[in-house]
Amino acid sequence: MSKSCNVCGEVETEMHIIYECRFVQNIWNKISQYLNVRITAEKIIFGTNLNWILNNLLSQIAYSIHKYWIIRNEENVNSCEVDLEVVVKNDLKYKASIFKFIKNMQLYKEYNNALVVLFPHR
Ligand SMILES: [Zn+2]
Repeated sequence: MSKSCNVCGEVETEMHIIYECRFVQNIWNKISQYLNVRITAEKIIFGTNLNWILNNLLSQIAYSIHKYWIIRNEENVNSCEVDLEVVVKNDLKYKASIFKFIKNMQLYKEYNNALVVLFPHR
């Protein structure tokens, strides 16, 4: 029997978790607007023809979304207490601080820009 997504109730596949779930689509739509590129599942997996910095950002966001699902599916976690945007935002902040520490200012600036654009009110 296939497992159903505990957020929307549809069949939970790897692709559903990373891309198809409508809650995750909110994030990808924002990123599509930010990068002015339509983000597809193929682009998330294989990278885009954008530069390596933006591909790095996309991989990081896909990783954070997957992490969010793992947290949600843990027993004893009240799923209402876990917010996808908070998980993604905190990971981007953490990575930005690491890039600053290792003095990779290209990645640091890109992650900071993404934070401002994707989460303006948080
Ligand atoms: Zn779902």
